[in-house]
Amino acid sequence: MGRINVLPDILASQVAAGEVVERPASVVKELVENSIDAGAKRIVVEFQKGGTRLIRVTDDGSGMDRADALLCLERHATSKIRESADLVAITTLGFRGEALPSIASVSRFRLSTRRREDACGTLISVSGGKIHEVEDSGDAAGTRIEVADLFFNVPARRKFLRGEQTETAHLLQQIETLAVAHPEISFICRRDQEEIFRLAATEDLAVRLRDLYGEKFLKRLVVLTPQETQGVRVYGWMARPGEGRSDRSHQLLFVNGRMIRSPLLSQPLREACEGTLAKGLHPPAVLFFEMDPSAVDCNVHPAKREVRFRDPGLIRTVALQAARSAWKSLKPLTDHEFSPGVGTDPLFPPIYSGKSGVHPTWMPSDHSIQCELSEQMSGSSRIQETPVSDDPNSSGCALHQSSLSARYIGMLGGRYLLFEEKESLLLLEIRAARERLLYERFLSRLSQGSLESQHLLMPELLEVSSADLAWIEAHRDLLNAAGLFAESFGVGKHGVGSLKVDAIPADAATLPIMEIVVCLVDELRNIGEAPTLDRRGREVLAATVSRIAAAGASLPDGPEGAMMLLRQLLASELPYVTPKGRPTLIQLAPGELLRRFAA
Ligand code: ADP
Ligand code: MG
Repeated sequence: MGRINVLPDILASQVAAGEVVERPASVVKELVENSIDAGAKRIVVEFQKGGTRLIRVTDDGSGMDRADALLCLERHATSKIRESADLVAITTLGFRGEALPSIASVSRFRLSTRRREDACGTLISVSGGKIHEVEDSGDAAGTRIEVADLFFNVPARRKFLRGEQTETAHLLQQIETLAVAHPEISFICRRDQEEIFRLAATEDLAVRLRDLYGEKFLKRLVVLTPQETQGVRVYGWMARPGEGRSDRSHQLLFVNGRMIRSPLLSQPLREACEGTLAKGLHPPAVLFFEMDPSAVDCNVHPAKREVRFRDPGLIRTVALQAARSAWKSLKPLTDHEFSPGVGTDPLFPPIYSGKSGVHPTWMPSDHSIQCELSEQMSGSSRIQETPVSDDPNSSGCALHQSSLSARYIGMLGGRYLLFEEKESLLLLEIRAARERLLYERFLSRLSQGSLESQHLLMPELLEVSSADLAWIEAHRDLLNAAGLFAESFGVGKHGVGSLKVDAIPADAATLPIMEIVVCLVDELRNIGEAPTLDRRGREVLAATVSRIAAAGASLPDGPEGAMMLLRQLLASELPYVTPKGRPTLIQLAPGELLRRFAA
């Protein structure tokens, strides 16, 4: 007897389920996507116990007649494509005809559906892939699918499910993502009997984002002017400079309405932030890319989380341009918006408009301690906020160097400069401001050659480890570009190397030479792969040297020096953050002061 068997259908479905149905959240994704494909205007998602006990999705979409209701449970039954030519231009979310049979094979499943024109609907009960009952049903037009006891018959899979909290978190994040992609659909979400959110249908994506994540979330983003390059359209929101998170869960990137995780899209965003964001952080973004369906192949991943682009280079360019263009016409962070968590993980509990209390995802860390305090003192600050549908950045008035009326008040602790500007208080951090200015100067100089260096009258001999010495020798071009000229002077008996330094970066000349060398080598080496001198590499180099040089810069000289620094800062390209994402300037608006001193 041969050893190859054709799998019975149920088993085949269970195998497919392994790819499509990873956890309750994936069930929600497939069911809601089906509802969207069926033209639903209103979708209700209910769940119990993280979705493991029950998931119920009810829609008011097209519904199915009895024949289709039975057919949709067959493997590879789909109404969305007919021939292979359709595969190159998919406009629906589903097309594989795998989801329903897969889900039904690993759960206790009930499908109730009715087309508007039919007097009577159909109710089908399935358990572990076997159809038990087909009855008439009197439900409203549309479709309701219940998935109970997920993986009850596949213990191996059940074991991989995480705790209720984690599954709930994934599930909510999934619904949120779908809701962001489809503001025109109203979504209601219930856990047990408790309503977690109710999102009214809207034309305005900003309204949907605000309803889901709150007013303040939008304020941390900058609206992108929609743009189109060679048939690829992009619109949405990009993080303000300096806004970053250590993972990418706060990046919602959609391609033709489908949320996609792809380095091809996320890397350019990260790259655009070079010079404003510390290493290891990623900018939050909500971006929609739209293109001809034939320019993208969605049939790459069983759960359709990945796509293949016909012209990946173009997509990369569009993403990079979009992210870079988002920061034109920026405004300073007001104290209210300033987050001390910038550059680290949020220290603050996520705020969430719903009541679930388990929302784990990507809330902005905009709750500074001060801000929380001021909210407690003034009641909810939300009331005073302006509607988002205008400009989400409307909170801070942009400072312009040309129209500046600032008056210098004084210096605080040798570290901050205080200015009065139209009744608001400006706080400038001297070192951070210097860092920004030096960075921009270095960057432009690097694009023409290397940074200025200062020759030492007497070469200086430094002791460094032999490992450092080897690194320095191997990256001489890079160090030369930074203005450091040094060469090995041999390795001694105990493995200690001598480094002969002939010239140092001119702008860092006030610092001890050892410090310059160590900082430069350490920082560049920490980047992992040593930067080359392409655009990105130059940005890294400029950021590193500017940080070192800013540490050695002198304090501004009197009121004139202070005013000059402020003017220069405001005239720079991105005045409000250092290359590593620290704020340079904070504005305390009169309203904010009033709030703080309110009784
Ligand atoms: P796919 O979405 O890839 O076509 P599915 O297994 O998810 O495959 O669904 C199979 C078919 O069942 C769909 O093509 C569609 O015709 C029908 N269907 C599924 N869910 C719904 C729904 N909520 N309303 C109407 N029709 C549906
Ligand atoms: Mg589907």
